[in-house]
Amino acid sequence: MDPSANTPSRPVVGVSSCLIGAPVRYNGGHSRYKFLTDELDRHVDWLPVCPEAEIGLGVPRPTLRLQDRKDAEGARADRVISSKDGADHTDDLANVADRHLRELRRLDGYVLKNKSPSCGLYALPVFDDNAERVHGTGRGAFAARLTGLLPHLPVEEQGRLSDPALREHFVERVFAHARLRFLLDTEWRPRDLVEFHTRHKLQLMAHSPDGYRETGRIVARVGGSDRDEVAATYAEAFHRALAVRTSRGKHANALQHAFGMISPLLDDARRHDLLAGIEDYRVGVAPLSLPVALLRHHCSAEDVAWAGDQTYLRPYPDALRLRHPVAV
Ligand code: SF4
Repeated sequence: MDPSANTPSRPVVGVSSCLIGAPVRYNGGHSRYKFLTDELDRHVDWLPVCPEAEIGLGVPRPTLRLQDRKDAEGARADRVISSKDGADHTDDLANVADRHLRELRRLDGYVLKNKSPSCGLYALPVFDDNAERVHGTGRGAFAARLTGLLPHLPVEEQGRLSDPALREHFVERVFAHARLRFLLDTEWRPRDLVEFHTRHKLQLMAHSPDGYRETGRIVARVGGSDRDEVAATYAEAFHRALAVRTSRGKHANALQHAFGMISPLLDDARRHDLLAGIEDYRVGVAPLSLPVALLRHHCSAEDVAWAGDQTYLRPYPDALRLRHPVAV
């Protein structure tokens, strides 16, 4: 494990099988996505799932599409229909998530293939009952069940991972999820959760100051409450907080907070450099990696354990190079 990831165990990430090169698409091809196979692959373990192959549709197979139809109870719903014979595969595809539930609960994230009536997460075209007109958008049957069963799991569509900010956010959440899972899998003591929370202070603040305060209140009662209840409540609040999109302003606040911890130890020149780096990032002329690198350097040179241990400074392996674009 890359020590810069700050994570004691490799995250486990579910993935639409075709995205990591399995030839399971309807036409016998795959949709290999290089960021997953050439970069993220070095730092995570995969749980590949192809829902359509699992329900025995075979390769190659007729295409599927989402149609607005009545379900068994007569209510209108998005159904996954075969273009060849009109067969409805919705329930079988959703049940794949139920069958894998034990493994899915062990995951730290999931990457789904976009534009798939089984795996797609956002804005899939939904045809009318005659399959003639698109009259809305929906979600793939497997993706809908997955996100319903595990609402706090970091889940992203492969197409959106081309956006540097969305990619960075997803990867950050996956590694944070793995750190918390690893802690809660152990015989943790109250002080371990306090220490975990302290190390994540800046990272939580950079996403949700309210979430930071909420998780802090949960940790404050860890000594006198039921351990499992605290773990479940903390995990939910922690994941909810990190799911909030960060911003340049929230990052700048977190960086200023770190600056406040270390500035008494710096001379004027280094203080000025660090403040200038934070400001350059805040106004959009420098990447986040610049002030973060300065902070890391000063924390290590001055041996400032509190700030140096912050996961915010090392949220995932450096090799992923996710904080370098100026736009993030
Ligand atoms: S998008 Fe999903 S169902 Fe389609 S080939 Fe890929 S893994 Fe299988």
